[in-house]
Amino acid sequence: MTATHGISFQAGPQQGKVNLMGLSRVQMEQYFLDMGEKKFRAHQVLKWIHHGGVTRIEDMSNLGRSLRDKLLGVAEVRPPEIASQQDSSDGTRKWAVRVDGGGLVETVLIPAGNRATLCVSSQVGCSLDCSFCSTGKQGFQRDLSAAEIIGQLWLAIKSYDAFQSGNGRIVTNVVMMGMGEPLLNFDNVVAAMDLMLEDLAYGLSKRRVTLSTSGVVPALNRLAEVSEVSLAVSLHAPNDELRNQLVPINRKYPIAMLLESCRNYMAAQMDKNRVVTIEYTLIAGVNDNVEQARELAELLRNVPCKINLIPFNTFAQSEYQRPSGNAVSRFWQVLVDAGYIVTVRTTRGDDIDAACGQLVGQVVDRTGRSGRYRAASDSDAQIITVG
Ligand code: SAH
Ligand code: SF4
Repeated sequence: MTATHGISFQAGPQQGKVNLMGLSRVQMEQYFLDMGEKKFRAHQVLKWIHHGGVTRIEDMSNLGRSLRDKLLGVAEVRPPEIASQQDSSDGTRKWAVRVDGGGLVETVLIPAGNRATLCVSSQVGCSLDCSFCSTGKQGFQRDLSAAEIIGQLWLAIKSYDAFQSGNGRIVTNVVMMGMGEPLLNFDNVVAAMDLMLEDLAYGLSKRRVTLSTSGVVPALNRLAEVSEVSLAVSLHAPNDELRNQLVPINRKYPIAMLLESCRNYMAAQMDKNRVVTIEYTLIAGVNDNVEQARELAELLRNVPCKINLIPFNTFAQSEYQRPSGNAVSRFWQVLVDAGYIVTVRTTRGDDIDAACGQLVGQVVDRTGRSGRYRAASDSDAQIITVG
C-alpha cells in the first residue's frame, strides 16, 4: 500500500521544526528529497525511530555529521508524553498520554496468549455523541497528529524496553478503538496506520491493524482506496429507528448505506476472504432482546462479517445498564444458530479501570469529565476485551 494523501508536517514546540515521528514512508522520502538528500536517508531515519526507538538525531550515527547537523536545525523526533501508567494484575497496561496543548488521551495494551493488542486513540474527545459512550459526552477537542497517534505505539513498546528485543513485537495487534472517530481524522490516521504496516517501521500485518468506525460513509469509501487494514463497524442496532437514537450519525448515513460501504471495502481488498467485524454493544432493555437478535441476523445475511458482542460498560452519567449474562447468551445463541461467528468481549484490567477513559477521568476529574469505556478487539477473531 502506498500513502499518497496530503503531507501536513507537524510543527514542534520549537517553532517550525518538523516532527519526523509522524511521517509515513512516502512522506519521509519526500521530506528528504526536498532537502536534496537521497531516499535511503529517509529509510535510515524511519528505522532509527521505529525499529530502534531512537529520538535523538545526534545518535543516528549512520546519517553522517553534516546531515545530522542540518536535521537538528529543522527537525525533531518527539513522541507524546506519558502522564501516567498503570499495570493490572492480569497484564493489561494502561497509559494516559498527554498531547500538545495539554489534552489527555488513553492507550491500553491487552496481552492475551501469544498476542498483545494495543488500543489506540485518534482524537481528544469525539464529536459524534453516541448515547452510550462517555467520550462522546466529553465533546470534541481536537484531532491527534500522526505523530501523536503512532507515538502511542512507540511509547507502548518503549515502556517495555522492547525496541532492542525483536523489532517491537511486544505489540502484535493494533485497534483504532481508543478515544475518537478515526475516520474524522482521516489523513493523520492513515499516515499512522501506514507506519504500523510499513516494514521500515512496525511491519504489522494488515489483518492485525483494525480501524473501528461508527459509520462515516464517505470517509470509509475513501479508505478503501488507500488502505488495507481490517475494518470494524459499530452497528449497535438492527434497524434505523433504534440506531438513530444510539448512533446519531446514522441519520446522515443510514444502515443500508453503511453496509453497502462495508461490502465495497471488502470487495476492494486483494484478499477476498476478509470480513468486517460488526460491533454490537448490548444495552439492557434497549437492543438486547431475542427479536432484535433475529432482526440483526436477517440484516447481516449478505454481509461478509463476524459479530463482536460488547456488554455495555456503565459510567457515571449514563442511565443505561449492562445486560445479564443470560441475556447476552440468548442474544449470542440466536446469532450462532443463524450461522454467524460471534465473539463476546470479556473484561480485562478491572483493577486499573482499564475500562479505559476511567484513568483519564481520574487525572482530569476537576474538569468534570468522567470515565468511559474503551474496548479492544482482535481482528483475527480472538475474544479479548477491556471494559
Ligand atoms: N469511534 C469509533 C472507535 C472508538 S469506540 C467507533 O465508534 O467505532 C470503540 C468501540 O467501543 C465502539 O464499538 C463503541 O461503540 C464501543 N463503546 C463505546 N462506549 C461503550 C460503552 N460504554 N460500553 C460498551 N461499548 C462501548
Ligand atoms: Fe465517538 Fe465512537 Fe464514542 Fe460514538 S462510540 S461517540 S463515534 S468514540
